[in-house]
Amino acid sequence: MTNSGTGSNLTVDVVLIGAGIMSATLGVMLKELQPDLTIEIFERLDVIAAESSAPMNNAGTGHSAFCELNYTPQLPDGTVEIKKAIKIAEQFETSKEFWAYLIEQGLLNNPQSFIRKVPHMSFVWGEENVEYLKKRQQALTKHHFFKGMEYSEDKAQIKKWIPLVMEGRDPDEKVSATFMDIGTDVNFGSLTSALIDELKQKGGVNISLNHDVRDIKRNADGTWKITVKDKNTGNKRKLNAKFVFVGAGGGALPLLQKSGIPESKGFGGFPVSGQWLVCNNPDIVKQHEAKVYGKASVGSPPMSVPHLDTRMIDGKRALLFGPYAGFSTRFLKKGSLLDLFSSIKLNNILPLLAVGRDNWPLTKYLISQVMQSPADRLNALKDYMPTAKAGDWDLDIAGQRVQVIKKDAKHTGVLEFGTEVVTSADGSISALLGASPGASTSVPIMIQLIERCFKKHVKTEAWQQKFRQMIPSYGVSLASNEALSDETRARTSKVLGLI
Ligand SMILES: Cc1cc2nc3c(=O)[nH]c(=O)nc-3n(C[C@H](O)[C@H](O)[C@H](O)COP(=O)(O)OP(=O)(O)OC[C@H]3O[C@@H](n4cnc5c(N)ncnc54)[C@H](O)[C@@H]3O)c2cc1C
Repeated sequence: MTNSGTGSNLTVDVVLIGAGIMSATLGVMLKELQPDLTIEIFERLDVIAAESSAPMNNAGTGHSAFCELNYTPQLPDGTVEIKKAIKIAEQFETSKEFWAYLIEQGLLNNPQSFIRKVPHMSFVWGEENVEYLKKRQQALTKHHFFKGMEYSEDKAQIKKWIPLVMEGRDPDEKVSATFMDIGTDVNFGSLTSALIDELKQKGGVNISLNHDVRDIKRNADGTWKITVKDKNTGNKRKLNAKFVFVGAGGGALPLLQKSGIPESKGFGGFPVSGQWLVCNNPDIVKQHEAKVYGKASVGSPPMSVPHLDTRMIDGKRALLFGPYAGFSTRFLKKGSLLDLFSSIKLNNILPLLAVGRDNWPLTKYLISQVMQSPADRLNALKDYMPTAKAGDWDLDIAGQRVQVIKKDAKHTGVLEFGTEVVTSADGSISALLGASPGASTSVPIMIQLIERCFKKHVKTEAWQQKFRQMIPSYGVSLASNEALSDETRARTSKVLGLI
């Protein structure tokens, strides 16, 4: 597979739109599977991974469902449902397998630059929540993914794990916590940059920063004409692609709409912005060593669960609290205030209106978050760190998430908090919408995408073999194979320096 033609007749095998974790993962994977592929990457900003994949724009949690309570809902009969938790834990194991492969092959070096071991904890207060957390730990520890998860209601023990959370707390308050030693903090920005650096060294890969993809249209021969504006010169250029991945994060929906594929009809986006409090006092930062997730407030979107997090950002330890959700009509942090309005089309107006009508608690919650004063934000932090003082914390802006709105069977609309891969029937274009569980699942999501879009190639022995080399558990469920799961986790932990 090679480039053919020149100028606007140039045809490449693959165009990746956006230089975030998703495009970077897909690019590296495709190049491993088929080294002679030609790939063009276009990024509208002048740096790689400056939107959601940037470390300060996301929470850096390697989502394994160890601490995130929204993955384990309590059912009406009182039991705790763990299906989603198992799926997410399995997906993260797959991501670690791929990253370990890249380290072993020397394609990435220094795993510490992007992944570190940080215990994952859940912390709750109040009779009802304590009861829920206990049931959750009991349900989870029956599955091998969650072996070793500790539970405690003992304040002295919890204080040993998280002194900042316990100091100054009402001694009569009923609290409980779970502790999972093998949690991770991931710097998805460093990982994206390392993946793109690796790609750049391969022949047949070209990356253009400051290049904004403006249009995608299907050619008569089934390939795609991509129109790109060079923001340095203001010039537009066109090229053709046999396969397009719209990995534009929040910017994916408008580009997908431009492609005109029938599969894009009815999708809309609901942007949720975010803010963190970032600790500026190194004495406090060093007293906390965990990601501590709590329970979401009523009406809040599931990804707005507050957490007090140890982070490793570019080699420096940090402490962040949040995210505080908010509302902005931008689809990207560096996007336009018109993004939401421009995305409204005849084919998605009904789903958008239905979501507005049916999600009043969410709307109310977002309005209340936007109206928060600094004192309100400090009070929310004090739920997790009672001794917190305003002067030790600065407010910072997190990334923008665009939640997926889609038509449901009755042609009204539903709001989804997961990720949606939208692919044309012939598999020649695919876009990733939504943001959760996000970057942690970039590897299994891109594998699925490859299986859908490169069906013929995936069936070949060469690709099957390569998949098994990249992901040794490929084709086997780690969730149902304890021995393989233990062996895989032990191996990837060693290679990634997590033990
Ligand atoms: C507040 C917050 C917390 C999060 N926490 C976590 C977490 O703890 N763990 C986790 O796993 N995930 C988390 N996520 C989700 C995760 O950050 C995203 O799923 C992931 O980074 C998305 O990667 P991406 O490559 O799709 O998008 P991005 O990283 O946003 O990259 C898209 C790129 O496309 C570019 N682009 C857009 N439009 C165009 C265009 N027209 N032409 C050219 N380029 C374009 C953008 O500039 C950008 O660089 C969080 C997200 C947010 C916002």
